[in-house]
Amino acid sequence: MKTRVPFREGLFEEKGGKGALLGARCRSCGQVIFPPAEACPNCRGKDLETVRLGNKGKLYTYTIVHMKAEHFAPPYAVGWIELPEGVRVFSQVRGWQEQPLETGMDMALSFEKLWEEGDREAIGYVFRPAGKGGA
Ligand SMILES: [Zn+2]
Repeated sequence: MKTRVPFREGLFEEKGGKGALLGARCRSCGQVIFPPAEACPNCRGKDLETVRLGNKGKLYTYTIVHMKAEHFAPPYAVGWIELPEGVRVFSQVRGWQEQPLETGMDMALSFEKLWEEGDREAIGYVFRPAGKGGA
């Protein structure tokens, strides 16, 4: 049994494949950002609070990557997913071999193994097509 560890701290909460992305909301202007940052990119305010982001969004744009990456064998897909909070999240996109991607389609957040390192599994967020009818 491998130990599940987040691939990076502070970006999400996850347990057993369910969870939420952690963004930040500016208390001055209401801007929501992901990943969280020290200052608001909109008003430069530094009074930000952590917020859990929704787990559904729409595919804003995507690309299929054919070059080898450190942890990922090509081809794989990455894209920007627009969440209802008005923030765009850059993420790996899975399930695109089964269901061709189209911009604007409904996407659902999922937490899955990104890679293995020794006795550890690096867990990260990915988005998948939300399925027929956007259910
Ligand atoms: Zn702001």
